[in-house]
Amino acid sequence: MSSIFSKIIAREIPADIVYEDDDCLAFRDISPKAPVHVLVIPKREIVSLADLTVEDEAVMGRCVVAASQIAAAEGLGGGYRLIVNCGEDGGQEVPHLHFHLLGGRKMSWPPG
Ligand code: C5P
Repeated sequence: MSSIFSKIIAREIPADIVYEDDDCLAFRDISPKAPVHVLVIPKREIVSLADLTVEDEAVMGRCVVAASQIAAAEGLGGGYRLIVNCGEDGGQEVPHLHFHLLGGRKMSWPPG
């Protein structure tokens, strides 16, 4: 299923891209929920965590390592949160798997 994130990958709509490699893309969330709010996505069209297969292991690993590198580049040495919303109950709105990298403020727990 194609989503708005496929259009960002294809540069058909603009985004503030902060990182890209062969497998992953990262860009600033258009409606940030923290001083730093970056979305890290696989370029492959994977709808959600629930759709992952073993073939996605390397790509997912790359995205998580990329998130760690972006957090360091954004100066989040004090900590941050990496979140994936999965499916309707998980609060996922865009049907293209994405990690939310949130930082720059103190996070609360549990999330809503
Ligand atoms: O996890 P969920 O699917 O709810 O998150 C989607 C995120 O994508 C939202 O935080 C929204 O602000 C972001 N978004 C974006 N650019 C778009 C469309 C959505 O950053 N063009």
